[in-house]
Amino acid sequence: MPFSRSKKKIILSLALMAFGLSAASAQQQLPLNPDQVCTYDGTPLTGPVYEFAPSESTNRMVNRILNSVGLKPRFEVKAANVPNAAAMIYNNQRYILYSQNFVEMVNRTTKTDWGAVSIVAHEIGHHLNGHTLLPGGSRPSGELEADEFSGFVLQRMGATMLEAQAAMQALAIEEATATHPPRNARLEAIAVGWYRAREGTSATQPLARNPAPESRPSPAREKPEPENNPSGRPVGPGEVLGRVVFNASPDKEYYITKTLQMVRVNESGKEVVGKVAETRGDPHPFIIQSRNNTFVYLGKDGYIYSRSGEKLGYVTKI
Ligand SMILES: [Zn+2]
Repeated sequence: MPFSRSKKKIILSLALMAFGLSAASAQQQLPLNPDQVCTYDGTPLTGPVYEFAPSESTNRMVNRILNSVGLKPRFEVKAANVPNAAAMIYNNQRYILYSQNFVEMVNRTTKTDWGAVSIVAHEIGHHLNGHTLLPGGSRPSGELEADEFSGFVLQRMGATMLEAQAAMQALAIEEATATHPPRNARLEAIAVGWYRAREGTSATQPLARNPAPESRPSPAREKPEPENNPSGRPVGPGEVLGRVVFNASPDKEYYITKTLQMVRVNESGKEVVGKVAETRGDPHPFIIQSRNNTFVYLGKDGYIYSRSGEKLGYVTKI
């Protein structure tokens, strides 16, 4: 039998009262759409998630992260009963959720406050890259983009690369999973972001600290002296660590110098075309950053790889 109009009113007002009570309490349950959640390590969120107001120190941390890249907060940061940290969208509102216990554990384990900063920066990276708008939750390519963002942010904030990588080194799973890349790939992504930030405006500025011979202002530029370079090359064998052969242009001469620059040599001299930097990752302990700010990886097997793992060339000793 249907309720009378007055009974309906009573039920409605009771329901509203109950809602008001729960909204006014210190914690609030957030219904989750699992498709739009990126957790730090891919652990699925199960059960109801309750959010709490973040601590003052976390608010300050988020503001420092955003200031370092000149952004205004377009999301809410909440402490919550999540396993580690997560980025999600609910009701068109972007959230960063983090576990206070997890953040404290990370800082204890890594013995640096940068650990927690890198994790929150990673989650912010998911929002800024639009990953939380995509169905399907975490995916490996999105994780690497968020990792790269965190490396970028931490360099801007003053962290060393080891500090930027500390949480990943301590927490990431060594092997790849369906949602997350292996730890080494993630360490490399952080390194790429870190180097990108260190170069500052590198997208428009050449990486070379010393001008290449071609760019010297002297109009009467000297040609390389043959007697100083018996091989005819403007880089002597004592200056280089190895020659780089790219599959796409095997005849062009590229070298990695002992000062960790990549130079291209031709008839008119040498030109710095990139820098070699350590990632401390394995199997790719080095990255090569080109002047137009693209990155390739130098594996410990001597091969040069693209980010997607394609072999682009190799390095030989000379
Ligand atoms: Zn993530």
